[in-house]
Amino acid sequence: MLKEPGNSKYVKKLNRMAVINTIKEHEPLSRQQLAKITGLTPPAITGIIRELLDIDIVREVGLDKSRGGRRPVKLRFNPYAGYVIGVEVTRFESFIGTADLKNDPTDFQTFKLDMTEPETGIKQLAAAIKQVMNEKGYIQKNFLGVGVAFPGLLNVYEGTVKRSINLGNNWNNFPVKKTLERELELPVFIENNSNASALAERWFGGGTDCKDLVYVNLGEGISAGIMMNDRILQGAGGHAGEIGHMSIQEGGPLCNCGNRGCLESICGIPALVRRAKAELPVIPNDDALKKAWIHKGKISVEDIIESASIKESYSGELLKQMSVYVGKAIANVVNFYNPNIIFIGGKMAVAAEYFIDVIKNTVETYAFPEIALSTDIQVSSLKENSGVMGACALVLRYLFKSNSDMLEDVQQA
Ligand SMILES: [Zn+2]
Repeated sequence: MLKEPGNSKYVKKLNRMAVINTIKEHEPLSRQQLAKITGLTPPAITGIIRELLDIDIVREVGLDKSRGGRRPVKLRFNPYAGYVIGVEVTRFESFIGTADLKNDPTDFQTFKLDMTEPETGIKQLAAAIKQVMNEKGYIQKNFLGVGVAFPGLLNVYEGTVKRSINLGNNWNNFPVKKTLERELELPVFIENNSNASALAERWFGGGTDCKDLVYVNLGEGISAGIMMNDRILQGAGGHAGEIGHMSIQEGGPLCNCGNRGCLESICGIPALVRRAKAELPVIPNDDALKKAWIHKGKISVEDIIESASIKESYSGELLKQMSVYVGKAIANVVNFYNPNIIFIGGKMAVAAEYFIDVIKNTVETYAFPEIALSTDIQVSSLKENSGVMGACALVLRYLFKSNSDMLEDVQQA
């Protein structure tokens, strides 16, 4: 335990977390066993347990086999003592889910909210969150925090959206954490959606045994959430992981960021649709995508995905070609960060069966051989819920911070 008190509020929190985590890991435990494992004094344990019993996070159960004298009562963690809310925001739809303190998030709901104007958008979002908190037998006072996944560049330390191409210019430098906390009167944690998805894999997905992982979001834009040694890699300004703007083609198409030839400008969904439209005139008339275009007069990414299942189709070939670029970018990520697992997620992941092998082969070809061999590339199993699940994990991570993380916070405070 921490010997230097320094900041007593933090130390108290640290000890409390140590007790909760120890009970979660070794339950059922007596107070005496807790004191022994944590190194805290019996009076300190008694005080902390009294607080935890009051808020129902810990419950007394059964009686220990007595060795004479008073029978010590065992303590158990109560995962239903509180709930957390996870939210993923996009421009016209927000997704909300809830989780208890131990199990996967559930009750995913979609709300049609126009987030173009931050002030009105946040008010609508807060109303939707309150609606979720008030339904289905939840007791509002049992909510412990709200996590929100946003698209764009954020400063998670300040709790601001710096710039979001997806949400629009009005969000530049908007203090989202402060505004939402005022509306909800609950602690709010924000994170970029790809980083939240990486955290979702770590907490609920294929990465629960893995401290070093990368989540690659292939959607309208392309970005990555990078977890190294169990921490989200933020970078100095909180903007790390923008692999969509990795320069991949000299003099290539113009990108949203102002450069040319970024990965996103070639392989993002708008780029794929744009390229298919440009090439439609020369595609044979019996190709499935061409037929869809002739039939409807337009095509969307859904048409591309649907027709990619047909052997030797234009769409299948388009996705494979795209995947070589994505694979090269991932090879660089593999060389830089040496992760255990790369998760392929985002809107395009539903079509991953048509291109995942191309990505794997490209990474094998271009990444440093030993590093490539030790990297597993998987399709994310969390699908469209990864943002909401990651947002739930943002709050859970704070509630159950590891002791070493708490120590770092104490030192930074
Ligand atoms: Zn760019």
